[in-house]
Amino acid sequence: MTDQMTVEAFRALCADHGVHTVEVAVADTYAHPRGKRVPVDRFFDEVLEGGVAIADAVFILNVRDELIDHEFVNMDNGFLDTRLIPDVSSGRILTHRPGYALVFCDSYDEEGALHHLAPRTVLTAQIERCRALGLDPVVATELEFYLCTVDDDGTWQPVRPHIKYSSLTEALDLEDVLRDMREALAGAGLTVESSNQEYGPGQMEINHGPAAAMRAAEDCVLYRSIVKQVAEQHGLRASFMPKPFTEESGSGMHLHMSLRSTDGGNAFADSDGAPNELMAHWVAGLLEHAPAMSLLGAPTANGPRRIRPYTFAPTHVHWGLDNRSVLARCIVEAGSSANRVEFRSAGADANPYLLIAGALAAGCDGIERGLELGAMSVGDMYADPGDCTALATDLTGVLAAYEGSALASMLGDTFSRSFASLSREEERLAAEHNPDPDDVNDWERARYLEFC
Ligand code: GLU
Ligand code: MG
Repeated sequence: MTDQMTVEAFRALCADHGVHTVEVAVADTYAHPRGKRVPVDRFFDEVLEGGVAIADAVFILNVRDELIDHEFVNMDNGFLDTRLIPDVSSGRILTHRPGYALVFCDSYDEEGALHHLAPRTVLTAQIERCRALGLDPVVATELEFYLCTVDDDGTWQPVRPHIKYSSLTEALDLEDVLRDMREALAGAGLTVESSNQEYGPGQMEINHGPAAAMRAAEDCVLYRSIVKQVAEQHGLRASFMPKPFTEESGSGMHLHMSLRSTDGGNAFADSDGAPNELMAHWVAGLLEHAPAMSLLGAPTANGPRRIRPYTFAPTHVHWGLDNRSVLARCIVEAGSSANRVEFRSAGADANPYLLIAGALAAGCDGIERGLELGAMSVGDMYADPGDCTALATDLTGVLAAYEGSALASMLGDTFSRSFASLSREEERLAAEHNPDPDDVNDWERARYLEFC
């Protein structure tokens, strides 16, 4: 895993790469990076300490930048500023745009406290909760996306007409694009492992390695931003919309998690064919809170449309070993430092800070309450989910599972009310424009393809 960056190391890196501009970034509630571009000298002389101001409306903007009638951010309180203070340890070089670097920021409110609505604040609190248990979360997000062409009339079409899962023979024309993506991700500090064609026409996956939880969230934000930018550099488009085409695979964001104990080792390493005690409590917590976590993984009406049988997205709350039909897939080889749980329900558009925060809250709750892990699921869990709880398949059900839940209060009442109110607006719009739960229509593609 990449070491944390000091000011001097980042300054040297910027000098080495001829950086002229630093992007001072904050991820919004949908993990879209927003912020200010500042000249590199000004960044080190002033912004590093003093920060920059931006409207805190960024935390209530939806994917189309529509301002909803919001409880906490509104005309009555004048749309306040939030101050973005760079966390230099998050600094990255954007090698696909020579001369640019990026640094993520903490957001502070007018009283100087961490902003309640900032996703980074929400994740920071849950990382601290893990540390209070003597555990450091290690996370990787695994993302799928569709690569598309754009017709003259603006319609997006998958770049391939058919599926050819993991083919090394065909789609060589796309390898120029994928190689540039892999190089750009590596340039930004991600540990790129591999790329392959996924099980959808024009659907791709690029895998990268784990990192400490905050860095993993930021790897994911950068991944989506860089993949979209490199696609555009090649005249293509990339979309992380979770279910863009009714008849084709959805795009998921699988979350791989382990815990490092104070001695630095993987605390799940001595699992042997089944989760060890700590891992069992952790997974039990994930399962208990999984229905509520669905809102973090599917915050618009499109995400829950991915949750259908035989799609490789889980439909019920269960755990298993190497089984792609379960929600929580446990990788437990004796003594392996790669032991981890893979949580498979979130869509590719999920906000990684919030999804990871939800997973850490759920897992810590499992440990703190000593939750017991129920029976392992074996075989085709679409055919026979037994009495496992079903995950909601529409946004109304997802919202019902989140609002008033223990998870919502663990993540903070102010944040949770705000987050749910944004999804309520998505629910209202979808009911008006696409009431069919099983159909992804043109309205939906126009709303999300470009902006997820
Ligand atoms: N595309 C599937 C999903 O929506 C996942 C396929 C896989 O196992 O990689 O989650
Ligand atoms: Mg995949």
